[in-house]
Amino acid sequence: MPLPTSRLQRVNEPIPPILDLVIAGLDSGLLWLLESGPVWSGHGTLKPCVVCRVKITNDEIQHDVVGPRGSLPVHVRCYQIWRTRSNKLRRRT
Ligand SMILES: [Zn+2]
Repeated sequence: MPLPTSRLQRVNEPIPPILDLVIAGLDSGLLWLLESGPVWSGHGTLKPCVVCRVKITNDEIQHDVVGPRGSLPVHVRCYQIWRTRSNKLRRRT
């Protein structure tokens, strides 16, 4: 009896732990606590997201946020997690 060699191995897609990136970024000073909303929103301009470093493609929505180092692009999903984290941290102080 042949061994079941074709057992499908599910390859875990590496889901970027965006919350981890946000926490690390806030820790290292790469990111800052968001105060105001994005200054610009629209289709991605192929610039790397400040949170996850992945290029924001044209079929994704990009927010530009203003911080200490000027206006930087961020994915809408990264922004939301960053925003939630910022609100949480601000409330604590
Ligand atoms: Zn991102």
